[in-house]
Amino acid sequence: MTQTAHRRPSNERPDVMQAVICHGPGDYRVERLPVPVPGPGEALLRVEAVGICASDVKCYQGAAKFWGDESRPAWAETEVVPGHEITGRVVAIDDAAAIRWGGREGQRVVVEQIVPCWACRYCANGDYHMCQVHNIYGFKRATPGGMQEYMTVPAGSLVHPISADIPPAHAAFAEPLSCSLHAVERAALTFSDVVVVAGCGPIGLGMIAGAVAKSPAEIVALDLDSRKLELAARTGATVTVDVGREDAVARVLDLTGGYGADVYFEATGHPSAVVQGLNLLRKLGRFVEYSVFKDEVSVDWSIISDDKELDVRGAHLGQNCWPAAIRLIEQGRLPLDDICTHQLPLADVARGLDLVASGQESVKVSLLP
Ligand SMILES: [Zn+2]
Ligand SMILES: [Zn+2]
Repeated sequence: MTQTAHRRPSNERPDVMQAVICHGPGDYRVERLPVPVPGPGEALLRVEAVGICASDVKCYQGAAKFWGDESRPAWAETEVVPGHEITGRVVAIDDAAAIRWGGREGQRVVVEQIVPCWACRYCANGDYHMCQVHNIYGFKRATPGGMQEYMTVPAGSLVHPISADIPPAHAAFAEPLSCSLHAVERAALTFSDVVVVAGCGPIGLGMIAGAVAKSPAEIVALDLDSRKLELAARTGATVTVDVGREDAVARVLDLTGGYGADVYFEATGHPSAVVQGLNLLRKLGRFVEYSVFKDEVSVDWSIISDDKELDVRGAHLGQNCWPAAIRLIEQGRLPLDDICTHQLPLADVARGLDLVASGQESVKVSLLP
């Protein structure tokens, strides 16, 4: 059994650990669970940090995307450990997993949020982020997430090494950053583009960092929070607009000789930002939607057709963008000391979710299990 041969002596690990369990919307409890035992081809991680995502908050609040409504079944499951923005140390790994991931014991890694089935038509085509089975860590019983002290990494996972010199909360930022970079790739930026990023939370700031790497003409950041706009400028936005004080559409038209922006990234999750984007794009512009919405959005779709012939592109997860996300973090290309505002113990999960929900004092909130 090579699998056991590569494990550390069991006396270095406790038998029980703390974990957060989702029992349903609004009902997340900190409980004690047995430390999981990895099976063949799997690894065991000592979780060092797990970021709290806006999607975790929407799941906690009971959004229809997760718990279903008249028109769709529930996707999330109860009795699951939440958390998909995961970094940790490998504490046990067998030969099969070590060969697949190039990993070893003691290594610091980040784990892609989706565990692809590798059998559906999307996985077969390399579009593993749209896997039909869609097991994302922290939402399904098949893939318990990172809000626990130890977690198993199933065989189908995508695991990447990341420098151990980086603070754990910064390493876990690879997950949202991979999503931002995928959105940037969806936009197919060119050097002459005037790019607008709506929402300077973790995803929007990552989009700015990704856009900077593609060198467009201008990167315009929109937000209501001057502190987030300051982070946007430090991340590389060339123009910042406080939409509470200034008319974003007028500012962008002014900046573009009356034409409008080439690309609009929507990363606020607010319906009004969708309308704003349609209004400030030029004809033939690209609208990239990343947000998960709590409420439905209604817009005049004739802007997309008759008025502007827009290209509307969705974006989900971070297909093939993890190596770039890790590189940007390791190169210090984002002001992560100030983006990662809160690191809390596991027991403070409710406070962490509230901090993300209000967004008033936090940008990125992480738990350190
Ligand atoms: Zn996330
Ligand atoms: Zn699949």
